[in-house]
Amino acid sequence: MTEKYQLHRGAYELLKGAEDPTMKNIAQWLGGVLSAVDEGKPVVYNQFTFWCDTMVPMGLQPLAPELWGLLPGAATSFPALDAAHDLGIPSEMCWAGRYVIGATLLDQLPPPSMMALPSYPCDNCKAAYQVIAELTGAPLYLVDCPYWVEDDEESMDYWVNQYKGLISFMEEHSGKKLDYDRLKEVAEESNRYIEYWLEGKELMRLKPLPQNGPWGSPAEILTTFGSPSATAAIKARLDALKARVANGETAVPEEKVRVVWNYLPVLWSPALFNWMAEMGAVIALAIYDWTSFEPIDTSTPESTIRGMAKRALHGYMARQGRGSSDIIIEDTLNAFEEYQADCIIVNGAFGCKWLRGSYGYLSDLCRERGIPVMMFDADIGDSRVVSDEEVKARVGEFLETVMERKKGGA
Ligand code: SF4
Repeated sequence: MTEKYQLHRGAYELLKGAEDPTMKNIAQWLGGVLSAVDEGKPVVYNQFTFWCDTMVPMGLQPLAPELWGLLPGAATSFPALDAAHDLGIPSEMCWAGRYVIGATLLDQLPPPSMMALPSYPCDNCKAAYQVIAELTGAPLYLVDCPYWVEDDEESMDYWVNQYKGLISFMEEHSGKKLDYDRLKEVAEESNRYIEYWLEGKELMRLKPLPQNGPWGSPAEILTTFGSPSATAAIKARLDALKARVANGETAVPEEKVRVVWNYLPVLWSPALFNWMAEMGAVIALAIYDWTSFEPIDTSTPESTIRGMAKRALHGYMARQGRGSSDIIIEDTLNAFEEYQADCIIVNGAFGCKWLRGSYGYLSDLCRERGIPVMMFDADIGDSRVVSDEEVKARVGEFLETVMERKKGGA
């Protein structure tokens, strides 16, 4: 057995006996990746905004490199980030791209047999994965998303054909054929998962909030989506959330500020939201949750693939990181209203052009509507760019201002 990937092997050993379905599911994915590596089976990279529901029915092992990097803790990615820097990758490229490049250089990532990358959400990812293709020689399929798909059947047909192209690409490079009965099974299982997701999302509208957000998680959709273990994980979390609601439990003893955080959390600081909760500030919603999905119609292979392709457009960052800035702006403002929030906080990476391009419009609209908003830069995975102290100082000061404003009845 190879001695590589010791951190992940250790994590797998730790988690494989876990009772908790979420941890158990992560262990299943890790175990799958490690077995594929040890047994020489194909590994497909799915960039972290691209779900794995086409890979699961083909029996191909998905590996979202960014999730692999975060699992042992974001700080373990520093050597990879430094290696990317030494190669000449600019530090303005966000953590996600720099990590994947650096980890490839340092051989910290199991090498891909092939890669699937959507053209959303940003140029950083498109540039980074081209570097990975160059470094590894692995074939890359760019699932090309039209600029505007909503209410445009021709564009939707184009997008669905991109999905079909991806399936053919994976068949060609793995030697496996997609079994349409299996595709139907996976789509139906994923429909059950989405039902639980949406049910939980509705409970997160309650005031006071029953549990601190975000409710949604990329953990299953990137790793095992459409398998019973993924569904069991979200079902267990939903049951726990429902129990809290039934028992009248709340996220904090006194909800002072309700926050819409319509972006990724600061991934290197999972404790940030807990720290905010100590101040009485709760997260009603992060970008994982502002989304809506229709169930996939599994009556024919065509409708199943179409349903999957359509659903992919509404995932986190897929929905907002394409087309015009109107989507992220409207989603954020609508979330503010619907979740009865007190303020909006948006963090962003320096190189996150689609988000930063919307900053000015969003803050103008918030000003017009009297909505307190704070936007700040913090690399999502690299704590050395903007420090924990600096993030807490800025967020803390903003939350105090919002609390004062509420006390004053503004
Ligand atoms: S945070 Fe922004 S720059 Fe980074 S991967 Fe996501 S969309 Fe791209």
